[in-house]
Amino acid sequence: MNSTLGADIGSFYPPQRTLMGPGPSEIHPRVFSAMGRPTIGYLDPVFVNMMDELKALLRYAFQTENALTFPVSGPGSVGMEICFVNMVSPGDKVIVCRNGVFGGRMIENVERCGGIPIVVEDSMGMPVDPDKVDDAFRKNRDAKILAFVHAETSTGVASDAKTLAEIAHKYGALTIVDTVTSLAGIPVRVDEWGLDAVYSGSQKCLSCTPGLSPVTFSDRVVELVKSRKSPVQSWFMDLNLLLGYWGDTTRTYHHTAPTNALYSLHEALVMLREEGLPASWARHERNHKALKAGLEALGLKFLVEEQYRLPQMNAVRVMPELDEKEVRRRLLEEFNIEIGAGLGTLTGKIWRFGIMGYSCKMENVMLCLCALESLFDDMGAKIEIGMAEAAAYHAYAAHPSRPRNVRAVA
Ligand SMILES: *Cc1c(COP(=O)(O)O)cnc(C)c1O
Repeated sequence: MNSTLGADIGSFYPPQRTLMGPGPSEIHPRVFSAMGRPTIGYLDPVFVNMMDELKALLRYAFQTENALTFPVSGPGSVGMEICFVNMVSPGDKVIVCRNGVFGGRMIENVERCGGIPIVVEDSMGMPVDPDKVDDAFRKNRDAKILAFVHAETSTGVASDAKTLAEIAHKYGALTIVDTVTSLAGIPVRVDEWGLDAVYSGSQKCLSCTPGLSPVTFSDRVVELVKSRKSPVQSWFMDLNLLLGYWGDTTRTYHHTAPTNALYSLHEALVMLREEGLPASWARHERNHKALKAGLEALGLKFLVEEQYRLPQMNAVRVMPELDEKEVRRRLLEEFNIEIGAGLGTLTGKIWRFGIMGYSCKMENVMLCLCALESLFDDMGAKIEIGMAEAAAYHAYAAHPSRPRNVRAVA
């Protein structure tokens, strides 16, 4: 008998948490119930039909007509890796922008593919500087790819994907773009901006169960992958093989699709379609304004300059008189609220408040501000009880929930 297997191990019932960290976000009951539907075969005609719908729904989310648009069986990190292993051949130069943790992972991906990363650095909390990218291309005219993170979750900063893609195209390079945190939270316009390889994650603003990575590839990427001289080093992630299952003509066994997880993504995307992208973007913006008003009323300062801030990921500096870890511990233990800590050089220096997808709602914002006030007061910070809720509540009143100032989408 295995001595570590205790007799007291039974079913696992996780607590109901308010998730306001960097992901996963909360999940709507409709998405959970979709997951509990009967498992069927991955070549069942009914399932294949659902796959076609999934592809169409993802094209809407990404605002693209790309034929090769599908969910990869794996988390966002696999979506990242699938772009690099397919597009980077040994010896290829890739310009990689690092302004946070996820850009750093892109550099490692390039190196592991045998590519040569040309790193464009910006400090954490700043967006990618287009002038530096242009400069890197001028010095490296043979660079084949530009890789950058649209929404850097580690700092809460948005970079200008449209401008960066324009620069890449001026120098004849393709783009790899991380939209894990941006998709459905802020506009992502794959076709209009001419993005080539784009990956996202199921568990952030799409509010689906973790473990799937929606991806979309332009025809130029498909040509590049088909014309590779060396085979893609990864069997599982080779797009040439995956096309046999997710492509438009054939449906042959590649790997067993995570059927029930795909049902949940289908439901989450149906819900996104019902709400509409402009309304989803507006909802994230509105809740951000209220959260910001409340956090500022508590005396907290944002890490990122206002014009570059992501509404769905709010990074604020820790007040010197407060214990960063203790605040997070008590939020979780006493209030069931999860928030994010700082990563890398920002460890211990910031808190990150995510309002993504189904987590992006007034109840969460108000509860979180109330909890922070109670804790800050108890821990000896000089604050006035009630100020944060009042500021947030007034911000909600000043920004009604009708979608405003958002462009119509196709
Ligand atoms: C969360 C995240 C990832 C990784 O996604 P996982 O699903 O955790 O693998 C990649 N890039 C960014 C910007 C992210 O926020």
